[in-house]
Amino acid sequence: MNTQDYIVLEEQFGAHNYHPLDVVVTKAEGVWVTDVDGNRYLDCLAAYSAVNQGHCHPKIYQAFIEQAKNVTLTSRAFRNDKLSLLYKKLHEVTGYDLSLPMNSGAEAVETAVKAARKWGYAVKGIPDGKAEIICASNNFHGRTTTIISFSTEEAYRNNFGPFTPGFRIVEFGNIDSLKQALNKNSAAFLVEPIQGEAGIIIPPEGYLREAARLCKEHNVLLIVDEIQSGLGRSGKLFAYEYEGIQPDAVIIGKALSGGFYPVSAVLSKKEVLGVFNPGEHGSTFGGNPLAAATAIAAIDVLIDEHLIERSFELGKYFLEKLREIKCTHIKTIRGRGLWIGLELDTNARPYCEALMKHGILCKETHDTVIRFAPPLVITKEEIDWALERIAKVLID
Ligand SMILES: *Cc1c(COP(=O)(O)O)cnc(C)c1O
Repeated sequence: MNTQDYIVLEEQFGAHNYHPLDVVVTKAEGVWVTDVDGNRYLDCLAAYSAVNQGHCHPKIYQAFIEQAKNVTLTSRAFRNDKLSLLYKKLHEVTGYDLSLPMNSGAEAVETAVKAARKWGYAVKGIPDGKAEIICASNNFHGRTTTIISFSTEEAYRNNFGPFTPGFRIVEFGNIDSLKQALNKNSAAFLVEPIQGEAGIIIPPEGYLREAARLCKEHNVLLIVDEIQSGLGRSGKLFAYEYEGIQPDAVIIGKALSGGFYPVSAVLSKKEVLGVFNPGEHGSTFGGNPLAAATAIAAIDVLIDEHLIERSFELGKYFLEKLREIKCTHIKTIRGRGLWIGLELDTNARPYCEALMKHGILCKETHDTVIRFAPPLVITKEEIDWALERIAKVLID
């Protein structure tokens, strides 16, 4: 079968909820992927930052295979000998008191929403049914019915109502907007420190610091969604570190398993996840031993291979070099770490298709932004290789 054969099958029998580039990947290693026709590409998306450690990392693979031989699923009805080690690892690496593992990112967001609401009632004393969670405009937190209830993106919401109440939207990056929204029924402010899906949008310097201060003043939890920005992508373990704050809870996913398996988690101070009692929340696969062993290995690789520092250094280099490209269609180039948004004054899709022909895979986000987010194992030479081709495609 060749590329076209696979595409025909996919279009015929699959729901059309994505619009992928017409490349059919069959193999991947590190930053490189190979398609079914034998073409090689440099992956500049890294599965939306789920493969920060590089595709099929041998150490994560080893842990995954070893664990698959022993035990993969116990459910939380019984304990297993890997989950406790993941808890310990997450505590040691992030400093947070408690964690709660789930599978997809959206499930971890749902978990944080439930924890925040319960905290609002049980700890803060919000009247029953009145808890509010404040969210930012242009957010992306996932695709469940509750999560799209606080999306501001029509394409995510249209025809999917009725929506879950209890959410209030403020303008991202505008501290006054947050100030006006905070009230006695506010349980939490849920925010991405940098908005990935919106196009790598970095809020004004000091915004999160001030948000953290306001939340504290109003006894409101600050919950950051680091599912995409976290685990090295922004050049720090967590993007919130750029503002020197300590959120009450952090949501992680994507790179937590290095792309092998869906693993997500909420991390928090004791008082937040501490609200859950047995039976109040759960997931059959959440915290399973295969997930835990894989996540431990994925975290070890990030740290042992200094991928976070690498993202910081090489990200700066990549950004500087991109800024040297002369193209009249470039509006702005912004980024933190190996996470760069190049905004055009025109549709980005044709550029992504042209980049693919030159051996670079990236994907437009929000029509006009090209996102460059390669696996963090990328070398300077590979960035230079990419830059040469990006310049060819962009230069007028
Ligand atoms: C990807 C993403 C999610 C959703 O994760 P899924 O695993 O797709 O459910 C939530 N928040 C952010 C910031 C994301 O980038």
